[in-house]
Amino acid sequence: MSLESCVITEKKPLLSVEDAQQRIYDACLPLTGNEIIPLKHAFGRVLAQTIFASIDLPSARNAAMDGYAFASESFNENLTVVGTSWAGKPFEGELKMGECVRIFTGAVLPKNADSVVMQEYVTVDGAQIQFPADIVLRKNVREIGEDVRVGDVLCVANKTLSAVDLGLLAAAGVETVSVIRQLKIVYFSTGDELVRLGKPLTRGKIYDSNRYSLHGLLQNPCYQVVDGAVIPDDKVELQRVLTQAARDFDVIITTGGASVGEADYVKAVLSDCGEVNFWKIAMKPGKPLAFGKIGACYFFGLPGNPVAVTTTFDVIVKSALVYLAGGKVKKPWQLTAVCTTPLKKSRGRQEYQRGILQQSENGEFQVDSTGHQGSHILSSASVSNCYILLAADCTGVQIGDTVTVIL
Ligand code: AMP
Ligand code: MG
Repeated sequence: MSLESCVITEKKPLLSVEDAQQRIYDACLPLTGNEIIPLKHAFGRVLAQTIFASIDLPSARNAAMDGYAFASESFNENLTVVGTSWAGKPFEGELKMGECVRIFTGAVLPKNADSVVMQEYVTVDGAQIQFPADIVLRKNVREIGEDVRVGDVLCVANKTLSAVDLGLLAAAGVETVSVIRQLKIVYFSTGDELVRLGKPLTRGKIYDSNRYSLHGLLQNPCYQVVDGAVIPDDKVELQRVLTQAARDFDVIITTGGASVGEADYVKAVLSDCGEVNFWKIAMKPGKPLAFGKIGACYFFGLPGNPVAVTTTFDVIVKSALVYLAGGKVKKPWQLTAVCTTPLKKSRGRQEYQRGILQQSENGEFQVDSTGHQGSHILSSASVSNCYILLAADCTGVQIGDTVTVIL
């Protein structure tokens, strides 16, 4: 870590968000195990191997329109229709001089035919088809291999399969695919104040909301996710649960207990039974964020405050999980917008304030603050559709200033 990339706010310099992300990539090794699964189950999974085409697409010259097909070398304005080529039931004969066939979209052209004229352009008189004099030959035909040739790459290794990819692979006859195995993730909440839904709230207790946010954030076909429930503020119990989980999972995520209060044991347990890579970053919300390993298992100790959970997940954990699961990490798109509310900010940490981005009639992006930015204010995060990214050294934003926004 270079000194310039640290932000001095307290006695010790805090790690910048960028350095924290880099440290995670340096420490993580993507999964390597593969499994072969039916194509139908492969949506959103990461391909383990590049897939090549074993057939041409299209595999036969076929019609792009409903109309009449003929050989351009024997074209004249009056042709006799001698049969029909249907999609799936081709006309098997060969066309002689002066002949054409009725043809439908997707139907294979007769052997020597190379042109299709749309049915709207012709006049039909029994078996006699009258074509306009100015038609263009060799049109409305889909040629062999114009989409994909035998041996072409269909999808590259490490691609996350989209709906279109499934269609492409199916079109090429691919029935099963080799994908990287699922990343096994378990998540826990920590805290004596937490009560599960369905139980009455007694004084001082709160409902455990973080496990619900994490449940939503971890929806990804590449992950096999287990809800590990609540761990009380008890160091021995925390150590027991985390050591066991580290044997069974690739990744542990906890929320709460990551700062420096008397009941915050996460960092202590991580350093006792594993290794702490870092445990504080210059980010708001989300300063207490522990990253490390217990045995071979990666560990993310997120803060307890609910908005800090979703923000640190979006900024730090999400891309790390994609990377671990073998996928390609894409930097989220950033755009600039005119800020329509003043924003308070003190120098020190990079802030991810919650905003509402809109596009005005002239196309300009404008962003509003959602209001109260406390890391416990879930309602203001819930109405947001973006983060307003404020650099560590920013000391506030005036109405009309241009800001960076992350969707
Ligand atoms: P901690 O980091 O454990 O000190 O927690 C910081 C704040 O987040 C406290 O106000 C906790 O009550 C709250 N908090 C911790 N865990 C959860 C949770 N699972 N659901 C909702 N709030 C929580
Ligand atoms: Mg706590």
